[in-house]
Amino acid sequence: MDAVSAPSDAILILNAGSSSIKFELFKVVEDRAETRLDGQMEGIGASPHLIARDARRQVLADKRWAGPDVADHVSALARIMEGIEPAIEGRRIIAVGHRVVHGGPDLAAPMLVDDAAMETLRGLMPLAPLHQPHNIAGIVAASQRFPGVPQVACFDTAFHRAHPWEADTFGLPPEYYARGIRRYGFHGLSYEYISDRLRREEPALAAGRVVVAHLGNGSSLCAIHGGRSIDSTMGFTALDGVPMGTRCGQIDPGVLLHLMLTEKMEAAELTGLLYGNAGLKGMSGISQDVRDLEKSADPRAAQALSYYAWRVRREIGALAAAMGGIDGLVFTAGIGENARNLRARICEGLEHLGLVLDPSANEANAPEISTPFSHTRVLVRATDEEAMIARHVLDLLHCSKSA
Ligand code: ADP
Repeated sequence: MDAVSAPSDAILILNAGSSSIKFELFKVVEDRAETRLDGQMEGIGASPHLIARDARRQVLADKRWAGPDVADHVSALARIMEGIEPAIEGRRIIAVGHRVVHGGPDLAAPMLVDDAAMETLRGLMPLAPLHQPHNIAGIVAASQRFPGVPQVACFDTAFHRAHPWEADTFGLPPEYYARGIRRYGFHGLSYEYISDRLRREEPALAAGRVVVAHLGNGSSLCAIHGGRSIDSTMGFTALDGVPMGTRCGQIDPGVLLHLMLTEKMEAAELTGLLYGNAGLKGMSGISQDVRDLEKSADPRAAQALSYYAWRVRREIGALAAAMGGIDGLVFTAGIGENARNLRARICEGLEHLGLVLDPSANEANAPEISTPFSHTRVLVRATDEEAMIARHVLDLLHCSKSA
């Protein structure tokens, strides 16, 4: 066992949003991190609600407060720690890992957060104004709650930093690229987790050309060749690419100019439309949840699902082209792991890429859903971004100890 960790140690992972903190506690077992409990505090400042479950999904804490009693991230973290205290069983928190949406053009690896790093992270706020400030608030809260304990920032953009330039730029004069107007890509911790998992479970496939479809409320796809991200569907922001629960996905920028100039829509209204009232929810007018849309007899629900499948299929083709071919397709996240009908519709017509789905394996949600004769293998794998962060935290602790 490494000198930095002991059997009674634990790592806390935080994913702080505008009004919520998601958390997961891992116990450190030798050099591995094992899930102990997870949960979230929602409705910070409005109607705070804490829920925590153990690894067997038994509820450990379910508590509500008045808004002013949990007014900010600092008090939210204090309440979370009170709520899970008995379940921690005296374990010592040896590090806190944070999901941070943006690492900008240069941060390609997790980092230990000190004062200088905080400055860097704050400087990246304009690139992700809806997320980065809250991620930073989570780091501030954890630094106050656990003084002297290492804080580690892990970036959703980092995995994509080795993109070739053509996948990183827009068709604009170079000064815009220099100012940071680039295709950063997101969901990197999920792609890294899947890539790592393939390396262990399917090493031959992991060495080849794989498209990973992370299809959840937020959806994107990534072309990964030999474990390296080549291109992805999300760009400067997490709006680009395929349609999502409430986000529009790729849209002709001329539409935005038209809405601004002709319909006089302001930035705030456009933000609300593109982020919150588009995608599956906006198109159907019913729900952002695939399960609701599949149950609905409303033709708009069917149209929204058709559009989703169409755009995902189109991006699989585009990403295969970016890699000069495709050896494997991996479905992951809520929709990718569960929505059998949608998976089948996405794969319809991809036979020209050597992809033949096995309907019964797909229906059974099997780990491999292509036929044995399919040149392109199609897999279903659960993602785990928090486990990826925990692994990064342990790696960083071990490195800093041996350095
Ligand atoms: P997030 O991006 O919020 O992490 P998830 O990856 O949890 O989202 O995905 C949530 C979505 O997964 C839901 O909105 C729903 O559309 C879809 N989903 C979850 N379970 C199923 C299921 N059994 N069948 C179809 N869709 C499902």
